[in-house]
Amino acid sequence: MRELIHPGQLRGHKAVVVGAGASGRAAVRLLLALGAEVTLLDKAEPSDAVRAFIEETAVAFQSGAHSAGQFTGADMIVLSPGIARASLEKELTGIPEQKIMAELELASWFFDAPVIAVTGTNGKTTTVSLIAHMLETAGKKVFLGGNIGTPPSEYLLSGERADVLVLEVSSFQLQNCHSFHPQVGVLLNFSPNHLDYHKDMEEYLRAKLQLFAVQAAGNLAIAPLEMRDELERRAFTKASRTYFVPTERFTDVTRLVGPHNKANMEAAWLAVRPFGVTEEQARAAVATFTPKPHRLQIVAEKRGVLFVDDSKATTLDAVAAAVASFDRPIRLLAGGKFKGGEPAALVPLLKERVKSIGLFGASREVFEPAWAPHLPVFWEPTLEPAVRKLFAEAQEGDVILLSPGTSSFDLYGSYKERGDDFKRIAEGL
Ligand code: ADP
Repeated sequence: MRELIHPGQLRGHKAVVVGAGASGRAAVRLLLALGAEVTLLDKAEPSDAVRAFIEETAVAFQSGAHSAGQFTGADMIVLSPGIARASLEKELTGIPEQKIMAELELASWFFDAPVIAVTGTNGKTTTVSLIAHMLETAGKKVFLGGNIGTPPSEYLLSGERADVLVLEVSSFQLQNCHSFHPQVGVLLNFSPNHLDYHKDMEEYLRAKLQLFAVQAAGNLAIAPLEMRDELERRAFTKASRTYFVPTERFTDVTRLVGPHNKANMEAAWLAVRPFGVTEEQARAAVATFTPKPHRLQIVAEKRGVLFVDDSKATTLDAVAAAVASFDRPIRLLAGGKFKGGEPAALVPLLKERVKSIGLFGASREVFEPAWAPHLPVFWEPTLEPAVRKLFAEAQEGDVILLSPGTSSFDLYGSYKERGDDFKRIAEGL
């Protein structure tokens, strides 16, 4: 464990952690190691895993609806990323902003290695994985975590030491950060998403830009060129700025398809360059990088029809990126719990590349009126009949693309389950 982390640090401090998921539990462990008096809150009754955790750590735990009284006298309140700030507005009234924080903020006080942090609407997981792989190829020891995988508090407690911390950060976490500032911050892109969670676009953008807000002059901010005017107008950072566009730099060696990945690769390269990674090393890393599952992943081929699982495409921009990634005719599978955006805006691109659309599950009322006047569209209550129907229509050379543009919670527990189900159905045809 770090020298900085000892029980004297927060002795006498009262901390409340809201949400008993992975990041909440990691925060509890770190706070206990720092000597704080910790209460863990969760609306739900504890699962077996949570129960075991409570027993092991002996943390005070309360389930049920939250009340203002639970926060009275707290010196710090750690909110899990899944908890919308607005949903606790009443209970947190009068509590100074600085006392409310994300697990990322708490952990960042103890970081002892430079941080590359990546945010954006789409492409975060792909890009942080690529960044980590580039650094490792150049011989660096890397911790990869954040929003995906291991919470940074776990890294601190593990006693491991990395040369560089590579973190995927979401707007939910950034919204509750005050002093966290990465040496290198990357904003990949920005578009309507999570409007079910954030009050409006402005709030969502402001949350994302928090990544750069506390950066210092020696730090680096990386953002898309198309956002330059908007960002500069906002004087969004004190860091140096580099704006990127998609390039062909690694196209000849990569297995990542689509124009959007040309942007992701370029951003990754710009992020690792300050750490002494050479372009040769970055190129070697790109050449050995395998696309992540459920992101434009080819899962089957049946009588010349290719089945591509892009279940992770939960936004309309990701759908657009996927559709733009194939030269072959596409039969698109879309639908699920809608997160916002403008389906009609996709019509020109869809008309150009998509032969037919099979909608499944929720949000039929969103997609059908926007797309059915322009393209053959049908709807099925679940994925399987939709896949079967598209396959029956499909000709050799077509792509059946699951790129739903929604979250999976109407029919599945996660995008992984949705993607796995698609693979199962395709294999069984
Ligand atoms: P995130 O972690 O931000 O959700 P992922 O790397 O998991 O991003 O990719 C999510 C989805 O977005 C996938 O369907 C992927 O094909 C698509 N995608 C990846 N990068 C981009 C991009 N730069 N623009 C639009 N869509 C993208």
